[in-house]
Amino acid sequence: MTTIKGKAISGGIAVGKLRYYNHDRREPVQYTVDDPELEVERFYQARVEAIGRIQELYMKALQRAGEQPSLIFQVHQVMLEDMDFEEAIIDIIRNERKNAEYAVYRAAQKMSLMIATLDDPYLQERSTDVIDSAYTLLDALAGRNIREMEGEGPVILAARDLMPSETLHVDQERLLGFITNHGSVNSHSAILARNMGVPAVAQLPEELEQHNGETVILNGITGQVVFCPDPETLAQAVAQQRAYRGQEEDLKSLLGLENITRDGQRIHLCANIGSVGDLSLALCNEAEGIGLFRSEFLFLGKDRPPSEEEQFVTYRAAAERMGGRRVIIRTLDVGGDKRADYFRLPEEENPSMGYRAIRVSLGQPNLFRIQLRAFYRAAVYGNLALMLPLITSVEEIRAVKELIKQVQAELLAERKPFAECVELGIMIETPAAVMISDRLAREVDFFSIGTNDLIQFTLAADRQNPKVENVFRPHHPAVLRMIQIAANAIHKEGKWIAICGEMAADTTLTETFLALGIDELSMSANSILRVRQKVRSLDMSNRDKILECLR
Ligand code: PEP
Ligand code: MG
Repeated sequence: MTTIKGKAISGGIAVGKLRYYNHDRREPVQYTVDDPELEVERFYQARVEAIGRIQELYMKALQRAGEQPSLIFQVHQVMLEDMDFEEAIIDIIRNERKNAEYAVYRAAQKMSLMIATLDDPYLQERSTDVIDSAYTLLDALAGRNIREMEGEGPVILAARDLMPSETLHVDQERLLGFITNHGSVNSHSAILARNMGVPAVAQLPEELEQHNGETVILNGITGQVVFCPDPETLAQAVAQQRAYRGQEEDLKSLLGLENITRDGQRIHLCANIGSVGDLSLALCNEAEGIGLFRSEFLFLGKDRPPSEEEQFVTYRAAAERMGGRRVIIRTLDVGGDKRADYFRLPEEENPSMGYRAIRVSLGQPNLFRIQLRAFYRAAVYGNLALMLPLITSVEEIRAVKELIKQVQAELLAERKPFAECVELGIMIETPAAVMISDRLAREVDFFSIGTNDLIQFTLAADRQNPKVENVFRPHHPAVLRMIQIAANAIHKEGKWIAICGEMAADTTLTETFLALGIDELSMSANSILRVRQKVRSLDMSNRDKILECLR
């Protein structure tokens, strides 16, 4: 039995045989043709065929996943009918006398590259759709047909990556789930999987072909995948699967309902995101806002930091898509386990307590100013709020406020529109911030408790070290008292407080959080309905009794 971990992109648990799907997505052979007009004719015939196939895929997706996710195939059709795309293909065939396959491939690559560099993150994501629709055209040119995958019985489909069209290759009755090496929460395959109610895990760090034919447990909630499980693990997974399915049905009935207890106490339930692509899932699960946008994900995995324009477009898109609901952008939180070469972060003995988060932003003010400029410009387009990570002192907040003033003065002088009055908040991630939360509350508008860090610093237990996992206990009374002290002090100053660490989604603590008067819980979008269900089941009339556990 082996277990690996990837990124959970569609909830649920699947148990079944792994079927590896090896897609042929190589560059087609290029050759010179004697009669270009014959190739042009081949292209037009293949396009008619490809559009027919895309329409079939659209109908299939409509039946299996519903209206919204199926629209991607209409986008594919529009792409194949695009005049610029057609002209580029014809141009290569006629002027370079190349075969139609090569012309289609080159024109698609060029168009995809061009889209990938556009400012709009939604359009950037469409660059893979250009390639997907071009391959439908290449299949038609080669006389290959999109066929259902053969095989007996239901399968867990595994691949390096899956395009939306490939996601539909297996009959729904025979499809138990997907696992891939690449892919993200935002890819259309992921959206289709979620809408079809099929569990999926992406970004698995292991060659999957070697497991072809093996029995697999896929956990789309935790991101864990187990190959060749022992009988006990298998039995546990089957029981979990049964329980999960029952719960899912109950949760769907909560859509459209309020986050309110039986005796009328309300709480905001918001989503944590790492990119604008995560917004669709947040909106589907009725997030009342974004309680934590981890902006560092825009900076990681790159060889240079994102420009002001890139950041501006992203923050603006988030503000606009949330349509007036609050979006809290957390400023850069690099350092610790989040690193990129260009930050030139030093090697440290103890990086999570080292040069990270607000310390890097204040230590590299030029980088920070770019983020602040982008933020204040984007804040004109919606309800953005700014949040600072890992604060330990009043002085840090004052230093940021000074920078904000300078940046706003610059924007004014440049006549660039920007928002002047935007809520400013900080994260409570250190015992220091808890102990001086009354003073901090006089400096800012709101707080959000980052319990992942607060637990590790309160209990002196590295959140990344499996050896001290048993010490890292969210329910430890010291952690709960930290939250209580902060909540009381902050409310006394008339400010509001949220929790955005993983603890926010722990339904065994929802009652305690409500009793403490926590104003907002922000979590992975998949957890929102589960927490809503819990909130609606509670009666808070005996608050003192609930808080007895903290005495
Ligand atoms: C936290 O510390 O709880 C938090 C939300 O921040 P991160 O997990 O990104 O450190
Ligand atoms: Mg943190």
